[in-house]
Amino acid sequence: MVRKLIVAIDGPSASGKSTTGKKLAKLLGYLYIDTGAMYRAVALAAARAGIPYEEHSRVVELTEKIRIDLRGEAEQLKVFLDGLDITDAIRTPEISSAASKVSAIPGVRQTLLKRQREMGADGGVVMDGRDIGTHVFPNADVKFFLVADLMQRARRRNLEQAQQGHIVTFEQTLKEIEERDKRDQSRAYAPLKPAVDSIILDTSDLTPDQVVELMLSHIKRHREYARCSPA
Ligand code: C5P
Repeated sequence: MVRKLIVAIDGPSASGKSTTGKKLAKLLGYLYIDTGAMYRAVALAAARAGIPYEEHSRVVELTEKIRIDLRGEAEQLKVFLDGLDITDAIRTPEISSAASKVSAIPGVRQTLLKRQREMGADGGVVMDGRDIGTHVFPNADVKFFLVADLMQRARRRNLEQAQQGHIVTFEQTLKEIEERDKRDQSRAYAPLKPAVDSIILDTSDLTPDQVVELMLSHIKRHREYARCSPA
């Protein structure tokens, strides 16, 4: 029986997880799952329902009720909230910051973790997030943890925001990233940290293709991958 792998990619904001994760999934013919988009969807749902992020029990109740779908191929991934396309609406700086607030609520994490496990259960997935290798799939076959210089990450994110039509100063982007990193690393439940068995890749001076190449070289060495891929 051929088994497809579970590949976890974790790391701080703008470390290159989604760009490389999408490319990697495409090359492997795997499903790409952006778990950050799910936390963003919860933040947007709460904002649209007028629920303050501080009202934890209401946010959890809402998380249990909403339907979040990720549809389409890795590079054209679309995100739906109760059937409505929210792909662009969840990429604003406000939602980025709100996502990191709702993601610190244990009940929100528990609800999404269950869904993420269901989505990846059959393998053949590249899952990108903050806690994939430590909590969602502690037994993932290959775990990457991406890091990059803070200034470089802020430059990347600022450019991405401009391309999406959000004109934000570099200083604002830098502040947003620093605050999110701090919140993600210091929360009590499932904080951002590398799994002990993760492969740490510094992407500061690498192009996305170079990072993907490095990832592939690790994946190809995996016993199961070698067994089920003749090439
Ligand atoms: O990856 P992205 O920047 O879209 O994630 C948005 C926010 O969602 C992060 O800042 C983080 O707080 C949260 N997140 C998380 N766990 C994940 C994925 C994202 O806490 N697995």
